[in-house]
Amino acid sequence: MKKFEKKVWLSSPTMHGPEIEYVKEAYETNWMSTVGANINEVERLACEKTGCAYAVALSAGTAALHMAVKLAGVKPGDKVFCSDMTFDATVNPVVYEGGIPIFIDTEYDTWNMDPVALEKAFEMYPEVKVVVTAHLYGTPGKVDEIKDICKKHGAVIVEDAAESLGATYKGVQTGTFGNYNCISFNGNKIITGSAGGMLLTDDKDAAEKVRKWSTQSRENAPWYQHEELGYNYRMSNVIAGVVRGQFPYLEEHIAQKKAIYERYREGFKDLPVQMNPYDEKNSEPNFWLSCMIIDPEAMCKQVRGECEALYVSEAGKSCPTEILEAIAAINAEGRPIWKPMHMQPIYRMNAFVTREGNGRAKTNAYISGGTLGKDGQPLDVGMDIFHRGLCLPSDNKMTPEQQDVIIETVKNCFK
Ligand SMILES: *Cc1c(COP(=O)(O)O)cnc(C)c1O
Repeated sequence: MKKFEKKVWLSSPTMHGPEIEYVKEAYETNWMSTVGANINEVERLACEKTGCAYAVALSAGTAALHMAVKLAGVKPGDKVFCSDMTFDATVNPVVYEGGIPIFIDTEYDTWNMDPVALEKAFEMYPEVKVVVTAHLYGTPGKVDEIKDICKKHGAVIVEDAAESLGATYKGVQTGTFGNYNCISFNGNKIITGSAGGMLLTDDKDAAEKVRKWSTQSRENAPWYQHEELGYNYRMSNVIAGVVRGQFPYLEEHIAQKKAIYERYREGFKDLPVQMNPYDEKNSEPNFWLSCMIIDPEAMCKQVRGECEALYVSEAGKSCPTEILEAIAAINAEGRPIWKPMHMQPIYRMNAFVTREGNGRAKTNAYISGGTLGKDGQPLDVGMDIFHRGLCLPSDNKMTPEQQDVIIETVKNCFK
């Protein structure tokens, strides 16, 4: 197989021109700090796009999640239910506040938090009052079910929509379902400021608190007066210029990503694989990353240690490690699925709840390689998707011809 001369990335920034004009405007008018027209405008654009009442522009999605966890009132020692198969930025802010993440297993329909496992978790830990839930790879999770369960148990929702800006569930934008919601403009997201994030909420007081906390919690006084702990989390007006220039291209990026997803789905239709699934009736993802999962019967032997992987090549079968190596060999970038948090050494002591209850007691991830539940399906769904799944090159500047080469490369792995 021929190597691409220029690397095909997983998902790289795509600039259009207006971004540099807004940055230049910030420079020329000397609004080079965390105040200015670009910031005001991106907050307005985010509200307009998502339908949220208030948006606060911050330095990163992680900063927005930290502020959300504070707003949710997480105190040292509080247990918090969190998505398990996600980027660690979803859960680390809980720990910044001294909270203890309890990981809720994943479902197969959208690869997000399993409402059945969430309900089980409330049976086990009825005292929990906060749930942090993410929409993986731009695919909305089971929003109605999760909202109903949280309402029943009086829990606040922090929604991590960092990967799903522009995606909708029943016609409503993600980033609006929780009490406190976060989006990200990190360099590889659907639109980017090179960095940056935002807190979205319908709660005016909450938005005002975040404005204050994120600018070192200054009180209204002639000098620097402080009554509360502060943070330096506000977005720069220069970064906001890039975000401002990107916003009008959000729908274009989504259309490109969707075309990529559909081209992969068509290209793989004769292979023993599925694309990352979504609820086609109720949701419209932003298709940020195209992913695939290999049917269990078509998996060759693959073993992953903490930092290395081994596999045995087999005719008619493959595994994520083999496919990722083949993709890297043609100078393209794929990536394993987010390794579930309950499998991460840093969170090895935290509880993990599956649809049948205590996952630590039942699954024994590293030893068994996959215990089955009463329904005959793998009990640890996150571990199973991590084992069999991978993210494909999903850059919106990838040409159809380049994508065809990637599709051929994946097909060859199954020969
Ligand atoms: C990117 C990402 C974040 C963090 O956003 P940053 O802007 O990089 O801090 C949080 N959660 C998820 C799921 C993400 O993918």
